[in-house]
Amino acid sequence: MTFSIHGLAVARGIAIGRAVLVASSRVDVAHYFIQPDQVEHEIDRVRRGRDAVVDEIHRLQQTITQLGPKDAPHELRALLDVHLMLLQDEEMVGGVKHWIRDRFYNAEWALTTQLEMVARQFDEMEDEYLRERKADLEQITEKVLRAMQGQSPSVLPVSAGRKAASAELQLEDTDTPLVLIAHEISPSDMLQFKQGLFAGFVTDVGGKTSHTAIVARSMDIPAVVGARTASQLVRQDDWVIIDGNAGVVIVDPSPIILAEYQYKQRQLELERSRLARLLDTPAVTLDGEKVELLANIEMPEDAPAAMKAGAVGVGLFRSEFLFMGRHGHLPDEEEQYQAYRRAVEGMCGLPVTIRTVDIGADKPMDSTVIEGNHLNPALGLRAIRWSLADPSMFLTQLRAILRAAAHGPVKMLIPMLAHLSEIRQTVALVEQARGELQREGREQGPVVLGAMIEIPAAALMLKTFLRYFDYLSLGTNDLIQYTLAIDRADESVAHLYDPLHPAVLRLVSDTIAECRAQGKEVSVCGEMAGDVAMTRLLLGLGLRSFSMHPAQILAVKQEVLRADTGRLGPWARTVLESDEPSITINS
Ligand code: PEP
Ligand code: MG
Repeated sequence: MTFSIHGLAVARGIAIGRAVLVASSRVDVAHYFIQPDQVEHEIDRVRRGRDAVVDEIHRLQQTITQLGPKDAPHELRALLDVHLMLLQDEEMVGGVKHWIRDRFYNAEWALTTQLEMVARQFDEMEDEYLRERKADLEQITEKVLRAMQGQSPSVLPVSAGRKAASAELQLEDTDTPLVLIAHEISPSDMLQFKQGLFAGFVTDVGGKTSHTAIVARSMDIPAVVGARTASQLVRQDDWVIIDGNAGVVIVDPSPIILAEYQYKQRQLELERSRLARLLDTPAVTLDGEKVELLANIEMPEDAPAAMKAGAVGVGLFRSEFLFMGRHGHLPDEEEQYQAYRRAVEGMCGLPVTIRTVDIGADKPMDSTVIEGNHLNPALGLRAIRWSLADPSMFLTQLRAILRAAAHGPVKMLIPMLAHLSEIRQTVALVEQARGELQREGREQGPVVLGAMIEIPAAALMLKTFLRYFDYLSLGTNDLIQYTLAIDRADESVAHLYDPLHPAVLRLVSDTIAECRAQGKEVSVCGEMAGDVAMTRLLLGLGLRSFSMHPAQILAVKQEVLRADTGRLGPWARTVLESDEPSITINS
């Protein structure tokens, strides 16, 4: 039966494919396809993980027996028996083998997928006692996952595994697109999937500018977030249409609906090829204003996509993605240097803006590890605060960036600054890193130093910032979040996350105006820069440098080519003065 689920549209386009469910787990679980010859090894890993937990339960049972009935309550014995029973449960064991043998899921993914399937059956049970056993099942699955963590899982990129496994995949044909449905996907997991073959994503949680949404957008595949119960309503292998323009997920579509969306998909393809003709056209407005269109990237390997999209440089390299999913082993100076150097060389002489690490809030280092126990992580030890809390770690990054600058033009960008003391410490550490490299006789290059304006306090002390920095970059994702006190990752307040709020526009406009007045460069690198509905307004406010995902560049260029800044200036001022600003794309 066809039904639809509504969420937030975050990455445009239409995807049609079979659902692959990724169950959420409190244990950090990797998801990847294995090679056919690894099947037995993976089954063995689950077996060993399970045996370790069975042994542990047996040891506990022995201890209980020694304690005697007074100190060891009957309920505890019964519970351990239930756990043992669940560990040997035919359906659980058979199901896990199925996901590994027939679908080539890695062991952890197979285990969590089967848990999800069985847990749903528990949910539907009439008997309350049996229903409550779901929690036990989750508990022992988690124990098995933890026991497996000691074993090395030989991680493969999703794409490599699936390709090699293709001859034996049980799907109708190996070209069947897969769409990923999950309660939540951490930014570090998204990186794994970035190499994969998923045609689209749906998550239950997340806002439009949550980092998961941002990575989905950078992959240029349709995505819907904030779809609330999608991961419970969609079943493994269901046919699913993801309409990333409307934020709608259609499950089990009828032939008529399917045909309609296939038609829409073809139309979007045509639109894309029309835009591709603009690739070599310089981004200049009708009245001759040159506009710089830059790319946002997450990994050095994204540089070719930036070049291919016609970017004239990288306006934001989110370096924190190098730090994620490493179980606390941070990249050392050499590894970072090589990564930054690859990005710089990949851009063939065009400038690369490397932002120092912005870990924290909805970008934890590991997908399920919450660093510290903080009530408001977005207001906590994030970005530059995290860097300054560990100066030697920060120096390592600064040295690596300065060394990479010997290979091409580099700009350094500092996130989340609000205090003068933070500015002074940062500038002093950059100087220290420079001095150290000089004394050691190591090669380094010049870097232009810039600050992100993403906290209202920063936007209200621009003159101070401009005394220390060569340029500013507006991080509108956070600027909106902090100005309006709306968690950017929380779908329940997503309707209040408003880039057109007069207070937000005032801060954006003032920053652009102050930089222009002082002859300093200013850019927008938040999602606003890649939103074609905002292009004319930003041009009207005086912006001439936009940084966005490579996939958005040509559509924004089209808007630039149609714009006349002479006319847009006065119009932008009226928008700015309005209590309830509104714009239409062709204003
Ligand atoms: C922003 O806040 O607008 C920004 C570009 O940084 P991030 O999205 O990585 O927080
Ligand atoms: Mg930010």
